[in-house]
Formats: sequence, C-alpha cells, structure tokens
Amino acid sequence: MIEVQKLQKKFKNNIVLKDITEHVDKGQVICVIGPSGAGKSTFLRCLNALEQPTSGKVLFEGQQLTGLNDKKLDQLREKMGMVFQGFNLFPNMNVIENIKLAPMKVKHVPEDEATATAMKLLTKVGLADKAQQYPTQLSGGQKQRVAIARALAMNPEVMLFDEPTSALDPEMVEEVLTVMHDLADSGMTMVVVTHEMGFAHEVADQIWFMADGYIQETGTPDEFFAHPKSDRAKEFLKKIL
Ligand code: ADP
Ligand code: MG
Repeated sequence: MIEVQKLQKKFKNNIVLKDITEHVDKGQVICVIGPSGAGKSTFLRCLNALEQPTSGKVLFEGQQLTGLNDKKLDQLREKMGMVFQGFNLFPNMNVIENIKLAPMKVKHVPEDEATATAMKLLTKVGLADKAQQYPTQLSGGQKQRVAIARALAMNPEVMLFDEPTSALDPEMVEEVLTVMHDLADSGMTMVVVTHEMGFAHEVADQIWFMADGYIQETGTPDEFFAHPKSDRAKEFLKKIL
C-alpha cells in the first residue's frame, strides 16, 4: 500500500531522514518508535506528502507522491487519515459538524448521509451522546476520539497517527488506545508513532525502530522487545522499560 524508497529529507543542512526504504502492506499495523528527534514525525509527514522528500520516493498504491498537482494530491490525501498529538478540531463547530465537514465539502456527501455516518462513527468511539457538544466542552481523550472519528469519516485506506496520546492526561490514554486497538482489529492499515510500548507490543504487526534518521531495525513486537538487535535499540529500551 505504501512504498518508501531511499527516502531522504533535509531541512537546510540538517539531514533528518537519511536513507529509508520500507513498505507497508494492506491491513498491517506498524508502530514506529524511537527517541525524540529521530525523525518520526517528519517520516510520517512524508508518507502523506505534508513534507516533500529531498530525494527518494514515496508511493501510495503505486502512485508517486511527488510532482502531483494539488487536486491529485488532495485526492490521495483523502485516502490517508491523519491524527496528531494536538486534536485540531474546529473550535467553532460542534462535534458532529466537525465530523461532517470534510465528507460534505470535499466529497459532496449529502447531509443526511454524512450525519448518519458521523453518528455511526461517534458510536464506535463511544461518544454518541456528545454529538452536539463543542470541543471546549470535551476532555482531551474525548477530543482525540472525535479527531479519530473525523479522520475515519473520509473512509481512508490508511490511518497515520503521530503520538496521539502524548498530550493526554494519563487517565485518558487508555480510552484512545482502546479505540485504536478496535480499529486495528477491524483490519485498518495503520502507521502509529507512539511511546506506548504496551500498545505497540500488543497491536503492532511490525515495530520500526527509528533513530538518527534511519529505521535501525524492524521486527515483530516479540522479536523487537525480547531480542533487540542494534545497540541503539537496546539502549532505548533500557531507558524506557
Ligand atoms: P521526532 O518526531 O522523532 O521527535 P522530528 O521529525 O519531529 O522528530 O524532528 C527531527 C528533526 O527534524 C529535528 O531535529 C527537528 O528539529 C527537525 N525538523 C522537523 N521539522 C522541521 C522543519 N519544518 N524545519 C526545520 N527542521 C525541522
Ligand atoms: Mg514527533
């Protein structure tokens, strides 16, 4: 579904992604872990062309993400849901309006259909009773679940998550991880940058360990957590586990 070939990304003289070649298969859940500053967010942003590679390629379903016009790029991005650390909900719209906006505006879905889909998704993330609330009336965990529902409303092929629970109070982390776990169980293709090692261990098909601009090693969670190969990964795990 996603192919990354010899990806390199520089910001001025800072080479943030050095040489990354990897792929994501349909239905796979990849957890990307690694120290702060490793390039994880930049990598994720290259996957949906929020950043353009300095060199190398990213292909989504066989189509290269560079050199596309805005219309083509938007069409491709519609297929990739993204959830960030911050919730980025529109503050002047209530929950259901937040979820309906893009399907109606971008995909021209009729309003009654958009409403039905939004309610279905809100039920899925356990927030059907919050449809008429405004973002300021929600907890961080609830906001993040709305953000996930909003991304799902576009019916994406893949969901990209960048530390979706890092900004949450500890007691709200679990409710968001549960929604993500359910999503993974439903067969969604997911790339998740996370520091939640329990989640990564339980849900990921593959762990990608990133440090210093490289994916240093990949493996199943059992392989990675029990028998990390690189010294860099051993050192990282020693610090966090
Ligand atoms: P991580 O998500 O693993 O913490 P990032 O991808 O956010 O790492 O950042 C990796 C490096 O890239 C950092 O040194 C950061 O300062 C730099 N960086 C990220 N985005 C930009 C940008 N837009 N302009 C300049 N430097 C950036
Ligand atoms: Mg980051």
